[in-house]
Amino acid sequence: MINIENLIRENIKTLKPYSSARDEYKASGSKMVFLDANENPYENGVNRYPDPRQKDVKVALAKVKNCNPKNIVLGNGSDEILDLIFRAFCEPKEDNIIILPPTYGMYKVLAGINDIETKEVLLTQSFQPKADEILSAADKNSKILFLCSPNNPTGNSFDKTTVEKLLKEFNGIIVIDEAYIDFSGQESWLNRLEEFPNLIITQTLSKAYGMAGIRLGICYASFTIVDILNRIKPPYNVNLLTQAYALERIEDAEGVQIEIVEIEKNKTLLINALKSIKFITEIFPSDANFVLVKVDDANIRYNQLIEKGIVIRNRTTQPLCENCLRLTVGTEKENEKLIEELLSISKS
Ligand SMILES: *Cc1c(COP(=O)(O)O)cnc(C)c1O
Repeated sequence: MINIENLIRENIKTLKPYSSARDEYKASGSKMVFLDANENPYENGVNRYPDPRQKDVKVALAKVKNCNPKNIVLGNGSDEILDLIFRAFCEPKEDNIIILPPTYGMYKVLAGINDIETKEVLLTQSFQPKADEILSAADKNSKILFLCSPNNPTGNSFDKTTVEKLLKEFNGIIVIDEAYIDFSGQESWLNRLEEFPNLIITQTLSKAYGMAGIRLGICYASFTIVDILNRIKPPYNVNLLTQAYALERIEDAEGVQIEIVEIEKNKTLLINALKSIKFITEIFPSDANFVLVKVDDANIRYNQLIEKGIVIRNRTTQPLCENCLRLTVGTEKENEKLIEELLSISKS
């Protein structure tokens, strides 16, 4: 059985965390007088520091996701969560991480910022992880393996038995980035959290929940890992406005679901229409709210769409993604405009 304590950086193990004013007080009644944090006392809705542990948001989220609020850490977007994970487990200049390109770009950027080496093991042609190659690429300093499922930019989910094999055999932390899980028919790995002490799952309010602007990233992990991340996170990393917006949205599960269903419907319509565009040679299966397509010449088609006022993502420089474009599913109107312009480009 993997021992998480052994994976933690030495300086983090012995760190004495900053204790904020609001961490230390224990509420003993509703009519408390707060003279502990040097705030301006005049109420304007935001004059007080936010809850450093975001209790209300976590309780609401735990209810929707059917987990324990004590298994949750929240951050200023997933990007902050991922950075915390690096700082907890990776010793600069010594340790390394493993990523599976083509994948989300932030893992490598964050590794660079933290002075951590990135090992890359390409996905297969059908965008699945190569378990044996990953395990043989790993050494004693391989602290984190990033699995993005559904994967960005390819859109597919990773094979369950492959992920399970990696969870059992990789001797480090495995981060499963589930930014797109709410669009996917696949079961979240959150339901298996208790089985794997080295598992960290990240999700976000930026995609299906429609709240990219408020920056709320979510991490689910064991109590041991949650405790470590809480020790190193900035005390007030999720601001009061974000907590208020997030709470309202999370409690509106029905409203969120209606939009997800709408986006899925629009995705199906979009994919069907894309089949009639002659220069699109392949449409990859998608469990997310975007579609990766292969075209005759990605740079030309990308620029032609820009001229028509439509911005998509050109992924042609990514491994295994030569001449691939990533299209986000928009509103019905936006998708119709995209198809209209694609048709006009293909006729010119
Ligand atoms: C969009 C996205 C995120 C979201 O990041 P935030 O910082 O929470 O907005 C995380 N992971 C992947 C793979 C994404 O595509």
